[in-house]
Amino acid sequence: MALIVQKFGGTSVGNIERIKHVANIIKETKEKGHDVVVIVSAMAGETDRLIDLVKSVCTEPNERDMDFVVSTGEMVSAGLLSNALNCMGVPAISLTGWQAGIKTDRAFTKARILDIDTSRIKKHLNEGKVVIVTGFQGLTEEGEITTLGRGGSDTSAVAIAVALNADRCDIFTDVDGVYTADPRVVPEARKIPVISYEEMLELAGAGSKVLQIRSVEFAMKYNMPLRVRSTFKPHDEGTLVKEEDDTMEKVLVRGIAHNKNESRLTVVKVPDRPGIAAKLFEELGNNNISVDMIVQNVATDGYTDISFTVEKNDADKAEKIARKVAQEIGAKDVIRDDKIAKISVVGVGMRSHAGVASKVFKTLAQYGINIYMISTSEIKISVVIDEKFTELAVRVLHEAFELDKQGI
Ligand code: ADP
Ligand code: ASP
Ligand code: MG
Repeated sequence: MALIVQKFGGTSVGNIERIKHVANIIKETKEKGHDVVVIVSAMAGETDRLIDLVKSVCTEPNERDMDFVVSTGEMVSAGLLSNALNCMGVPAISLTGWQAGIKTDRAFTKARILDIDTSRIKKHLNEGKVVIVTGFQGLTEEGEITTLGRGGSDTSAVAIAVALNADRCDIFTDVDGVYTADPRVVPEARKIPVISYEEMLELAGAGSKVLQIRSVEFAMKYNMPLRVRSTFKPHDEGTLVKEEDDTMEKVLVRGIAHNKNESRLTVVKVPDRPGIAAKLFEELGNNNISVDMIVQNVATDGYTDISFTVEKNDADKAEKIARKVAQEIGAKDVIRDDKIAKISVVGVGMRSHAGVASKVFKTLAQYGINIYMISTSEIKISVVIDEKFTELAVRVLHEAFELDKQGI
């Protein structure tokens, strides 16, 4: 008998028929003699709808109010699923994030899990019940409701699996695994049977929304084996995300991710002296805005330009801060571009093989795609380009690295 955590995303619980289908998957697992803890997302489209509702009341919503409203989506699906199971004769109980003991920091709309008190979940498991927990939400020390950022139910699931020392964490979604690129963009993309935590971390960080990045961080830190699998083909093995092994470096590029969810801000004609970058990025950090790429040009005439990217959600706030700092430091202007995309090529094989960067640049040049920014890590190359070239760039790079053919 094992303790299994199963997470079902929004599409998987998108209507009543699907909720009943999910209940059957859980029932089958339970009948094999396993203990089951389930994490659910809100029904498909519900979180977007709730966010729009809050924004329709006020264009710059109070973040506490936002979380208060948006966290309700998960309660509906958890209650419906628990009801479906109870109705089928499988004893189940639904719990909110706070009833399940999920404690977070105070960063509304993107809170981090600090700790989980699993006593209530364990009590219900001991009673023989399936425990259904709302994903995406938690509670601060002061008793405030928080949410964990878009896609945060993945993180709820992995964090609960780690806290319970579960044998396995299965992420059920609308694709049957992690692919070499988003299958909605590249029809030739292939399913990856096994991927390392590091590669998955880079892909998730680069915009592959199949897993939220923090869920992979948790899994990697605590070595929790994760499986991404399809709700609609529940017996398919999906993709296993696990520790890197020797065979993995043989593959040069494991996958390609794209992200249209960032904006670029450029502070123009910044005086080139120590402390200026610190001032700008400290202010952004103090306001909980994470900066992704940063590029500073070589100074001419004692002035330089600093460009950086932030999530589109944070762009208004970041622009305000950048304009304020620009004025204080005597910079000339701030330019904002929302129509950008980041394309990232990822693989642990890059550690031991040269030439990936040049192939990326050459391929994009062949198709007339201009590169605005470049950043690299040991196992990733990212470029920022014009948003209108996103799909083309992903497809031509997928082909250039023969990801449709390669055996893994
Ligand atoms: P859920 O609601 O189950 O959490 P998401 O929509 O968050 O599902 O994530 C699944 C989606 O992620 C897929 O439908 C797919 O379009 C997208 N995706 C992006 N990159 C990849 C990838 N490399 N492999 C698989 N799916 C991907
Ligand atoms: N419902 C939340 C969202 O849409 C969390 C999740 O689905 O993981 O982002
Ligand atoms: Mg998701």
